[in-house]
Amino acid sequence: MTTGIDRAASRPVSFTADSGVDRAAHHRLDEAWLAAAWSHPTTRVFVVSEGQVLIDDAPDGGTQLVTTPAFEAPPTEQHRYFLGTDADGVRYFALQKDSLPGRMDDTARPAGLREAGLLLSERDAGLMVHAVALENWQRLHRFCSRCGERTVIAAAGHIRRCPACGAEHYPRTDPAVIMAVTDPEDRILLGRQLHWPEGRFSTLAGFVEPGESLEHAVRREVYEEAGVVVGDVDYVSSQPWPFPSSLMVGFRARAADAKGAEIRVDGEELHEARWFSRAELGAAYASGEVLPPYGISIAGRLIELWYGSDLPRRPG
Ligand SMILES: [Zn+2]
Repeated sequence: MTTGIDRAASRPVSFTADSGVDRAAHHRLDEAWLAAAWSHPTTRVFVVSEGQVLIDDAPDGGTQLVTTPAFEAPPTEQHRYFLGTDADGVRYFALQKDSLPGRMDDTARPAGLREAGLLLSERDAGLMVHAVALENWQRLHRFCSRCGERTVIAAAGHIRRCPACGAEHYPRTDPAVIMAVTDPEDRILLGRQLHWPEGRFSTLAGFVEPGESLEHAVRREVYEEAGVVVGDVDYVSSQPWPFPSSLMVGFRARAADAKGAEIRVDGEELHEARWFSRAELGAAYASGEVLPPYGISIAGRLIELWYGSDLPRRPG
């Protein structure tokens, strides 16, 4: 028998599943291999531009990343990212351009990760999130942080080199923690940020600071934002979040005791925070008092794992 909990537990968050693409990093410095791979007839290329790609709704109802053979793509070594090889030996490249190509047919349309991440297959979503993360990093790291000289792309998009001082710069990922905190009655702590619309509540989250462990960041953020004292912290799952360069690291955390569960919001990041039992949250969603989670964020998934079954969804 499949219970709601089984279903909720088996469904992956966007970008956390295995895409089936081997990144084959050992090829990135092999220019001869890359050139041969680029011109191979089965190689597939897609354009990434300012976080967007072209997607296409297939007749069977699925949505695909629009790719072309490399010979139809403009020749370039400058803005070419090698993303990997799938189980059939197909090599994938992303081509970074200032704009997306014109519409290729009636159904192809531009989409960012927040939309495409919900629609694409695990393989296509994995390719897209890799390309978007590289593009964001390339765009924001054009100059050497050591000497200030303009840097050049290398390693098929995965390194920037400084021609003046020889420094090599690697893609940057900023870890952030996101946590479903529960109290001794197994209620969940959800908060509403200052700029969020009325009724939108979600899990607390925050960036990891220098010199801080992930567990410490969970406890510090929850205490700073909501005044709640956290005891146990358990890792759940992580999610690439290239807006522009984060990795969301998801946790379950427990308030140390009833006294530690008393809420005092900071009023800076959080406007309000509340403990919800499952019955209260279900009723709040049903009445519209609280808006259900939407989109690709791991936040909805963390709430769902606690709730025990799928939550009501809304598009967007
Ligand atoms: Zn330099």
